[in-house]
Order: sequence, then C-alpha cells, then structure tokens
Amino acid sequence: MPARVVATRPETTHASRLLLDVPAWPGHRAGNHLDVRLTAADGYTAQRSYSIASAPGEHGLSLVVELLDDGEVSPWLVREARAGDELEVNGPVGGHLEWTPGEPRPVQMVAGGSGVVPFLAVLTERARVGGVPAARLLLSARSPDEVIGADTLARPQPGLLVTTTMSRYARPEWTGLRGRLTPDVLRQNTIGPGERPLVLVCGPTAFVEAVADGLLELGHDPALVRTERFGASGG
Ligand SMILES: Cc1cc2nc3c(=O)[nH]c(=O)nc-3n(C[C@H](O)[C@H](O)[C@H](O)COP(=O)(O)OP(=O)(O)OC[C@H]3O[C@@H](n4cnc5c(N)ncnc54)[C@H](O)[C@@H]3O)c2cc1C
Repeated sequence: MPARVVATRPETTHASRLLLDVPAWPGHRAGNHLDVRLTAADGYTAQRSYSIASAPGEHGLSLVVELLDDGEVSPWLVREARAGDELEVNGPVGGHLEWTPGEPRPVQMVAGGSGVVPFLAVLTERARVGGVPAARLLLSARSPDEVIGADTLARPQPGLLVTTTMSRYARPEWTGLRGRLTPDVLRQNTIGPGERPLVLVCGPTAFVEAVADGLLELGHDPALVRTERFGASGG
C-alpha cells in the first residue's frame, strides 16, 4: 500500500527515524513490523522488514532504521529519504513479538541494538493503558550515543525496569553494565523463570540465538520465549 514520508530526523549517530503517513493502514499491535519496498527508476525493487516504533493509535507510523554502510536499502532510508517521498509498505506483519494490554504475564524484553525498536511500541502502549503486569527491558547497545529510543526508555512507568549494557564503550562516565549478555548478566538482570514471564528477544541473529540459549539454560519455558532475528551478524 502507498506510504508517504512525513518527516525524518536523526535518532542516533547511526540511525534515523522516519514518520510515515499510510492512508490505508489497517492498524497494528505493539511488536509488529512492516515490509518496505523501494523501486528504482529502472523498475528494480528491494524489500526489507522494519519494526514499527509507534504504538497502536499514535498518529502516523514511525520506523527507526540503522545504517549499514554496505547495505542496499538502509542507506537510502537513513541518508536519502525526505519528507514527501513516496514508498510502498505492506503490513502489519508479525506475531512473534506481539504484546497486547490483555497479556496476563509479566514481560521480559531483551534487545540488541535496533532490536529495541518493537519494544518502544510495547513501552508506549504499556504506559497508555497502565495497571498491567511488571515489565523489564534489558538492552545491549554499543555506546550511549547509539541507544535508539532513549526518550522512551528514560520515561518512568510503574512496574517497569530498563537496564542497559554497553558492549563497546570504555569511557569511565558510564557507570552501568558493560559487555555482552552472558548467562550471569541475564540471570541478574531479567525476570526469573519462576515468575513464568513472556520473554521477547529481538536483534541481530547471533545476539538473539545467544540470548535465547542463555534464557533457556536459566530454565525459562521454551513455549514462552519468542524471538525475532533482524539479519546477518551485527553486534
Ligand atoms: C522482522 C524484522 C524487523 C526488522 N526491524 C528493523 C528495524 O526496526 N530497524 C532496522 O534498522 N533494521 C531492522 N531489520 C533489518 C532490516 O530488515 C534490514 O535487514 C537492514 O536494514 C539491512 O538492510 P540493507 O538493505 O541496508 O542491507 P543488505 O543489503 O540486506 O545487507 C548488507 C550487508 O549487511 C548484512 N546485514 C543485513 N542485515 C543486517 C543486520 N540487521 N545487521 C547486521 N548486518 C546485516 C548483510 O549480510 C550484508 O553483508 C529488521 C529485520 C527483520 C527481519
């Protein structure tokens, strides 16, 4: 379906936020994604998936796209897209990371890099409805200036705890967690399996596999662990 870029702005040093107007959009749930299709003048097309950062009911659809220098689609979306540009989207797609306000379980989200994008929609939706079970988000980012959705993550909510670890940042001003999400870090910073949380994991493929394995090792029920892999390796 046709979409129009309404606005773009830098989100971090490596990512841009795009606000889209999609007149025929049927609505979505927090955690869904959509497919963007770009068509070149010679008719060549390329399609990629992007998580929806905006919550259901928010005005317009927002995406946050991280730049991969050698990529085909992300450099156009991050560097070239301008207000007024037309593109094609399909969606909503998903189900793996979907979260609805009626979810009775606590929710544990674990994100690597831009894998936090679908969880921004979850946090905004959770804040809107209020009075829902506990939630935790454990985010692995390379450095503080690469944290996507920092405003949303910093907004306090009852029953929500956000923990960030920096995977590639040596400066002393960061006093929080550092390094990768080892099983020990996971155990100390996530809702334990005894509470039977819904567990949502999103990010680069290798990250998601390592985290999901670590959580299963801690004793989480495989039926409650949902994952979405963004692609190749990343980190
Ligand atoms: C369900 C889903 C949701 C997604 N949501 C987002 C999102 O919200 N924001 C976002 O920025 N991206 C998201 N992605 C990733 C996105 O679809 C693209 O894969 C990404 O933008 C790269 O596309 P590209 O055309 O620029 O690179 P490509 O031309 O496809 O690839 C260029 C090079 O980068 C490698 N590569 C491809 N994808 C990745 C990756 N994700 N990480 C590291 N290396 C990679 C390739 O192996 C290749 O070497 C999502 C992917 C999926 C499946």
